[in-house]
Parts: sequence; structure tokens; C-alpha cells
Amino acid sequence: MTGALVTRLLFEETRAVGVEYLHEGMLHQVRVNSEVILSAGAFDSPKLLMLSGIGDAKHLQAMGICVVVDLPGVGQNLQDYILVTVVQQTTQDVHPAITSNGVEAGLFLHSEGNLEAAPDFQFFFGPILFAPPGYAHSDSGFTGAVSNGTKKS
Ligand SMILES: Cc1cc2nc3c(=O)[nH]c(=O)nc-3n(C[C@H](O)[C@H](O)[C@H](O)COP(=O)(O)OP(=O)(O)OC[C@H]3O[C@@H](n4cnc5c(N)ncnc54)[C@H](O)[C@@H]3O)c2cc1C
Repeated sequence: MTGALVTRLLFEETRAVGVEYLHEGMLHQVRVNSEVILSAGAFDSPKLLMLSGIGDAKHLQAMGICVVVDLPGVGQNLQDYILVTVVQQTTQDVHPAITSNGVEAGLFLHSEGNLEAAPDFQFFFGPILFAPPGYAHSDSGFTGAVSNGTKKS
């Protein structure tokens, strides 16, 4: 359903059995036969869990939300994902082929050289101007970038 805002998940004890949502100013509830998949993005997924009573019990109670599961970690592990780019304009057209995804070279590295753990740095390079509006003065150029990944402890 489009134009619907999910306001919380519905539970029978600790089992999710449906969702409550706002549509055209009216609050509705829908129940499911099988499972509820919560996929509302990095901010709204933990927010919906907390609005539904899954989170730090003390915090939920202070907000007047009935606690379903006391799970203090919910919403507490949002991490900055820093991306640093070096963007170079070109005087010649370097537009990538239409079959290119724009990122033509990539590298994953672990900052401590640990091959057992997942990489925590990502590099990419491509014939695109990956710059915010206002910085790009022409539409042709290339970009090298590095970003940190999530460090798993
Ligand atoms: C700038 C940028 C670049 C990225 N580049 C890459 C990349 O190159 N490769 C890669 O793998 N990943 C990339 N990602 C990450 C990737 O986009 C996300 O990990 C992925 O989209 C997450 O999917 P999702 O379905 O969980 O959430 P989302 O794609 O965020 O979708 C959540 C949806 O839920 C809706 N929603 C939220 N709350 C409610 C509510 N209460 N009721 C109803 N609907 C709601 C939102 O409107 C949205 O449509 C990038 C992200 C960003 C921001």
C-alpha cells in the first residue's frame, strides 16, 4: 500500500502478528498469517521497534511506551559512514560507457591487515564527478574515494 505510514508493530506476547498504519488520516491495523518483515531503513527500523515496545525499558517507560522486550541495544549502534572523495575535473570528455556502473575500480582493505576479519576500508575509482551540487563546474571528470566501513568488534 502506498502513502501509508506504519506507526507500530502489533504483538501477541513477544510474537509480531501485524502492523498498525496511518492511511489518509485513518489509523488501521492489519494482521498477517505468516511473518512481519521490518525493513524501514537505518533510522526508522529501530525507531519502529522502539515505538512498538522493543528497546531500553527505562527509556520506553519514560516515553510512555509499553515494554514488550527490554533490549537496550536497539537504536544505539548508529555509526558514521565517512566518505572522502578526491574529485578531478577533466578538459576532455571521460564519460563512462553506458555499460559501466560508474565505479570501475574498487579495493577492500582491513586497516590492521587482519585477513580473518571483514575489511573496514573501501576504496573506489571511476570516471564520474562524485561531488555535491555547487562543487561540480563541469560534468566530466573522475573521482577517487575512500570510506570507512563498520568495525566489527
Ligand atoms: C548515499 C548512499 C549510498 C549508498 N550506496 C550503496 C552502495 O553503493 N551499495 C550498497 O550496497 N548500499 C549502498 N547504500 C546503502 C543502501 O542504500 C541501504 O543499505 C539499503 O537501501 C537499505 O535497505 P532497506 O530496505 O533496509 O531500507 P531503505 O532502502 O532505507 O528503505 C526503507 C523504506 O521504508 C520506508 N519507511 C520508513 N519508515 C516507514 C514507516 N513508518 N512506514 C512506512 N514506510 C516507511 C522509507 O520511506 C523507505 O522507502 C547507500 C546508502 C546511501 C544513503
